[in-house]
Amino acid sequence: MRQISTLSEWRAATEDIRQSGQRVGVIPTMGALHEGHRSLIQRAIDDGTTPCVTIFVNPRQFNDEVDLHAYPQPLDDDLARCREWGVAYVLTPTIQEMWPSYPQATATTVQVAGVTEEFEGAGRPGHFDGVASVVTKLFVVTGPSTAYFGEKDFQQLAMVRRLVLDMGFDIDIVGCPIVRDDKGLALSSRNARLSPTGRTAALAISRALKWAADTPRTVDEIDHHVRAALIQAGIDVAYVAVVNQETLQTDIVDGSARVLVAGIVEGVRLLDNAPVVIRKDDTTCC
Ligand code: AMP
Repeated sequence: MRQISTLSEWRAATEDIRQSGQRVGVIPTMGALHEGHRSLIQRAIDDGTTPCVTIFVNPRQFNDEVDLHAYPQPLDDDLARCREWGVAYVLTPTIQEMWPSYPQATATTVQVAGVTEEFEGAGRPGHFDGVASVVTKLFVVTGPSTAYFGEKDFQQLAMVRRLVLDMGFDIDIVGCPIVRDDKGLALSSRNARLSPTGRTAALAISRALKWAADTPRTVDEIDHHVRAALIQAGIDVAYVAVVNQETLQTDIVDGSARVLVAGIVEGVRLLDNAPVVIRKDDTTCC
């Protein structure tokens, strides 16, 4: 495995991969790697691409300085994991390498309208502009054939698909299922900040989603049950929404939809979601 910290070396290394007839599979991350990240890397390997992981805590996607500074950065552990998991190349750029004018504002921003406006976009102003900008830059310098993203960040995945469509990037976007711990909690680098009590409370989220996904239900049933379950567990509900899986709007046409949830536990914002089937009698249609 080779660790690279400059964009010029990264560009050259990924060019070498292409020249040798291999496909580049990129897995963008912010580090603090766990089994969720591993599943993306494994999928890249299974697809026969050369797995290239990027580790960059992108300050432009944090609208909260406290959250940015609390973000774990165990680089040595991450590199050891990448080596163990079969990663070929890891990009670990400094902030200045990625955003040369930092800490001054970067003049160029990539903005994807529509899918970014509600949910995480409403709760975290500027977040998706930061993600779209860094993902675009990583795509341009890496030239991947495939890029791997988790369904854990469902709105981010929808945004990246739209970005690739609009910009004409010749990149397959692969969405990978959410990896959970043995109790059902969706793995996240932020879970480390939860106390044992907080972890127990957080389980109400995946439990409620499991209930919603178990059998076809109406939108109202899902909304009321999930919301009530979170409130009962003492979770501060940021949103619960049942949406069309592509548009993230309420135009659910074929009965299949996604429940998106964000809740705050001990100051930690937890995201989760699940596919659901909406019972016909409550399907909102055009
Ligand atoms: P992050 O390092 O949190 O920015 O995540 C990097 C990538 O890993 C994103 O595409 C996430 O959606 C994905 N990811 C994070 N947690 C999980 C999980 N529990 N299961 C599957 N993918 C995940």
